[in-house]
Amino acid sequence: MVEGTHPPSRAALYSLLTSPDAVEWRDKIGVAGAAEGSAKTTTRLLGSEGWVLKTDVALRRERPDELVAIAQEAARRAARSRIWHPSKSWVVMEAEGGFHLLTACRELEVVRAAPSFEERARLWGRVFVWCLDASARHGVGFDIHPSNFGVDGGELFYLDDELYPPNDLRDVGLAIAGRIPEEDEPPARWAWAGERLASDLAPFVRSASDWAELEAGLMDLALVERFDESRGAVRSSLAALARKGRKRRSESRRTCVLADVHANLPALRAVLAAAEALDVDGYLLLGDVVGYGPHPRECIEVLAQLEGLIGIRGNHDHVALLKRPDGDMNRMARVVSEWTAGQLGDAERAWLGALPKERRGDGWLAVHGAPRDPERLYAYVYELTFRENLEVLHEEDLALCFYGHTHVPFVHRRTEDGVAEKLGARDVATDTPATVLLINPGSVGQPRDGDARASFALWDREARRVSFHRAEYPVHETVRDLARAGLPKDLAYRLETAR
Ligand code: ZN
Repeated sequence: MVEGTHPPSRAALYSLLTSPDAVEWRDKIGVAGAAEGSAKTTTRLLGSEGWVLKTDVALRRERPDELVAIAQEAARRAARSRIWHPSKSWVVMEAEGGFHLLTACRELEVVRAAPSFEERARLWGRVFVWCLDASARHGVGFDIHPSNFGVDGGELFYLDDELYPPNDLRDVGLAIAGRIPEEDEPPARWAWAGERLASDLAPFVRSASDWAELEAGLMDLALVERFDESRGAVRSSLAALARKGRKRRSESRRTCVLADVHANLPALRAVLAAAEALDVDGYLLLGDVVGYGPHPRECIEVLAQLEGLIGIRGNHDHVALLKRPDGDMNRMARVVSEWTAGQLGDAERAWLGALPKERRGDGWLAVHGAPRDPERLYAYVYELTFRENLEVLHEEDLALCFYGHTHVPFVHRRTEDGVAEKLGARDVATDTPATVLLINPGSVGQPRDGDARASFALWDREARRVSFHRAEYPVHETVRDLARAGLPKDLAYRLETAR
């Protein structure tokens, strides 16, 4: 037996398999149903005491070796990618004179079974984003069908065992079209669903060809004529993506890249003034707007009103939203995160909550922590990890990645020959062929490189350069407000020494 994180024991598994209450399902979890033409007739499913046991009867072997290898590979992939639920386990079982591969997983709420059309449409959007994202990160694809995805604790998991080549926008278009006959809703409701899906898919549709791919999938699926109007409605709503993609593309030529604001309003203001003087027309925010500093609300207010800003969430933002301290945080960070959570109103929480964990564009990626961390939030790029992070970017064909979290401005580079270099906070060209750049703009609100001035970077997309900048700000004002808020003294010391 190859174990997931919370697998059933052998004895538990035996009792699940032999329970008198177990029911065989022919068309429930992970199987779309023969009527829809996508069910494998050799799949067998058993629902038993809140678990789902699944096997493919065609995969019977005289000897266990091959099946054990398949199970081990799947469990390794599961640990790496977290695409399956942590309870998912792969088991090689001897029965009736042969060996069988069996998977066991807790029964999850299936996306398809969500109670209303609105709720399902919301979940599809998340499923599409999840698939495109996991495809890009792990190089595998999924059968994008709402019976193949389950929800547990708000998180999505893939229920099917089988993986496919990576998904693209055409697959998403096909999946959207596939829902139209299944749901049989009037065109007005589909127009609404299209709007929702457009906002979910916006980060993935960045060019005319992206839109063409999505549209081709949507229109290519053969549907009977009476669904034409609904399909037309969802298409018009989604077409907003084509326009937005064009607009955004021409919008930001000179981007201010800023990270780790950490609720330091004077530092943020100084950076924005300096960026304006550099004639920026867009902002890329790398997370940790709040935490450590005394101005969480004020910083969110300023950033929320900034035109041309796209942002991601940092670990401190994440914790402030969860309203519970993170076990991995140090004591000081925990005290401040509790204080911060208490300062935020609904509007500020909604703004932080809408920040995704990453942003992508043409050949670039932005994360808070480290590109090789599937969570994007916690791992650091530093001496021991910069090489593997550069490798991950190289494998994903990305030329440029911005990150934050370490509060130290820095450039790591992978050359065409695969050599990983440390360049420090040095201005770099972004158009050297076949190189990969990993760039930290430093921290706005809590620098840790010995220079107390606020740090940021300018990404000049026309000149194809990234340059580093510092902005002086009145540190004493932030120190004063830290004391007024009753936050730990160590934080003031940190701002003054930048350590
Ligand atoms: Zn930070």
